[in-house]
Amino acid sequence: MTRIKKIGVLTSGGDAPGMNAAIRAVTRTAIYNELEVIGIRHGYKGLIEENFKQLKSHSVSDIIQRGGTILKTARCHEFKTSQGRKQAYENLKKNNIDGVVVIGGDGTFTGARIFNEEYDIPFVGVPGTIDNDIYGTDYTIGYDTALNTVAEAVDKIRDTASAHNRLFFIEVMGKESGFIALRSGIACGAEAILIPEIKNQLASLKSQLEDGFKRKKSSNIIIVAEGEEEGGAFQIADKVKKDFKDYSVRVTVLGHIQRGGSPTSFDRVSASRLGYAAVEALCDDQKSSMVGIQHDKIALVPFRKAVKLHKEISKEMLEIANILSI
Ligand code: ATP
Repeated sequence: MTRIKKIGVLTSGGDAPGMNAAIRAVTRTAIYNELEVIGIRHGYKGLIEENFKQLKSHSVSDIIQRGGTILKTARCHEFKTSQGRKQAYENLKKNNIDGVVVIGGDGTFTGARIFNEEYDIPFVGVPGTIDNDIYGTDYTIGYDTALNTVAEAVDKIRDTASAHNRLFFIEVMGKESGFIALRSGIACGAEAILIPEIKNQLASLKSQLEDGFKRKKSSNIIIVAEGEEEGGAFQIADKVKKDFKDYSVRVTVLGHIQRGGSPTSFDRVSASRLGYAAVEALCDDQKSSMVGIQHDKIALVPFRKAVKLHKEISKEMLEIANILSI
């Protein structure tokens, strides 16, 4: 028999489409296992401020298709202090909460790892971030929806770009990683993709544009991750403009549109699997670990590894992007 009788669930860090589907899966799996569920609002801030609310099965009805998070999310500096974590622990104890599912990114898991080194209430993580930059899982919740949002936007921009013979630089999210840029770039048939992981891309971009210009390409779409080394789409566009005076250059920054919207079926199913697996893990007395998806199977990854190890960009994807953009 599990010693867990009551669990908490929270969403933390940046929101991602599919977080609601994960909250629903956690809640319903817990209730199925005869556990009580407490929704903790505003991430770790709510844990410290005791912003708790009991979740019943009907509390998570009609949310699987909604973006955002019904529990709200927040960045919370206080949880980075030992005083803040002590308060969080006292609130959990006072409410007889035996385990917590945290849905978020690597910052959220860092906080959970530190908490589990200090206190005996187990935390299990569900990877929820559009960036897909977490080691130990092939996909994070929200990534697929963000890719589809980018693809839809870029397709529309492509229409107008071809009509006017324009060169578009489209900036997508990804401060430290190029996962969104690379995959959405392939999906949209981008002429070039600039990501933080690859340095000195400007010269090859210019020669590629030169070739396209000679071949009278009617439109050029360059996908730029926001953390790319020149500083993003505006900076790159400025540098290219000088050498290609005949091109009509435009910049679009997609911004927060990438975080919103109804989650795709893929994200809903991943969130359902991961939410279910997180509750199972708590019932199996696991702690300080994230549930991930590896080769379509659920895997348990210690927070220590998930936050410390770097997820590599796929060399195969890079090669495909290069070959297909000739
Ligand atoms: P995203 O990838 O979408 O940004 P994230 O989970 O990485 O999501 P962060 O803002 O980095 O988002 O972290 C979320 C919260 O986790 C922070 O606001 C803070 O409360 C907690 N946290 C982050 N780093 C630490 C840390 N070193 N110690 C304790 N808590 C932390």
